[in-house]
Amino acid sequence: MDAPLVYLDSGATSQRPESVIEAEGQFLRNSYAAVHRGAHTLAVEATDAFEEARRTVADFVGADEREIVWTSNATEAINLLTYAFSNATAGSNGSGPGSQRFRLAEGDEVLVTESEHHANLVPWQELCARTGATLRWIPVDDDGLLRLDALGDLLNERTKVLAFTHVSNVTGAVNDVATLVAAAKSAGALTVLDACQSVPHLPVDFHALGVDFAAFSGHKMLGPTGIGALYGRAELLNSLPTFLTGGSMITSVTMERTEYLPAPARFEAGTQRISQAVALAEAVRFLKDLGMDRVAAWEAELGQRLARGVAQIPGVRLVGPRPGQERVGLASVVVEGVHAHDVGQLLDVAGVAVRVGHHCAQPLHRRLGITATTRASAYVYNTTADVDRFLEELSGVRAYFR
Ligand code: PLP
Repeated sequence: MDAPLVYLDSGATSQRPESVIEAEGQFLRNSYAAVHRGAHTLAVEATDAFEEARRTVADFVGADEREIVWTSNATEAINLLTYAFSNATAGSNGSGPGSQRFRLAEGDEVLVTESEHHANLVPWQELCARTGATLRWIPVDDDGLLRLDALGDLLNERTKVLAFTHVSNVTGAVNDVATLVAAAKSAGALTVLDACQSVPHLPVDFHALGVDFAAFSGHKMLGPTGIGALYGRAELLNSLPTFLTGGSMITSVTMERTEYLPAPARFEAGTQRISQAVALAEAVRFLKDLGMDRVAAWEAELGQRLARGVAQIPGVRLVGPRPGQERVGLASVVVEGVHAHDVGQLLDVAGVAVRVGHHCAQPLHRRLGITATTRASAYVYNTTADVDRFLEELSGVRAYFR
């Protein structure tokens, strides 16, 4: 699209810096080959770049390189995990004695939240359906914020997993990971963090947060599509049964049985996303050069500007934290009497790109009594002028439809 364009849809996917596009191009032109297999120089070069990318990404999220499993995106990472739990329950795919803690049965519970993206809800629903476990959820209040006061009643010795998002893709609220992890630990439950909307926007350290597993996507953090990661504590990943099986993840195969490699290779069956990993590492270098503290501070400023601005527009409801309360650079709104799709269209005509709909969080929208919202989500390349353009166009919407 021709300029001027105000891109406020980075919550869906981010634009890529030139250096990220160039890094992938350079790799494809000069260093591309199959990894972990070939005996030739180019294959060694490609393998080095691929594994160096893993180290770079692991370091960025406070993990060890053995704890980062490449996936296509966060959705696949969470599905990998839930299918591995199923395989533990079935006693298949390399389930050893250590896989006991991943087994689910009738009477067990999986706890999620009412504000989850479908990617961190549907796979758990399906896992419960496969194993007979019960899905429960932490409710949200009228603003869409987690009701941590309900945690005490919901977490108990039956809870095997607590899966929750770090940052809501609808409200922009930052959840209290420390409280949730401490509560899960005291109940003996495993924790799974959906870090899709936090890793791109905040300094995140999985070891410091103490979560057992986490998932994130490259395309929301200046990287390419087609790559994301599942983080798992090394000790857990090595006792977790595999999901996809086949080449590249084995130590020995006979016609009767297979021995699997240690993590992360045991979860990376088949030819991997090689150039995408290299490009994601370049995106991480870009973010590190900016400094994640600065990124978070800038986005907090944009988020507050969005929230304050929206709160001043008559007939527009702000979802999520009130102005002054913590939020990332994202705001979802409802314009009284106007459907979000019409809002989005009007903004689009004015050159402002936002996301409209339920943002893959139907239960949250239902709880808030709405079917759709208009979401503006900023990132490192956005300015206060971009936010002001959005606010200006948004204030004209009701008048237009009157
Ligand atoms: N979780 C959250 C909070 C998200 O915002 C998204 C994407 O919008 C996802 C999970 C799924 O990410 P992907 O589509 O990259 O798998």
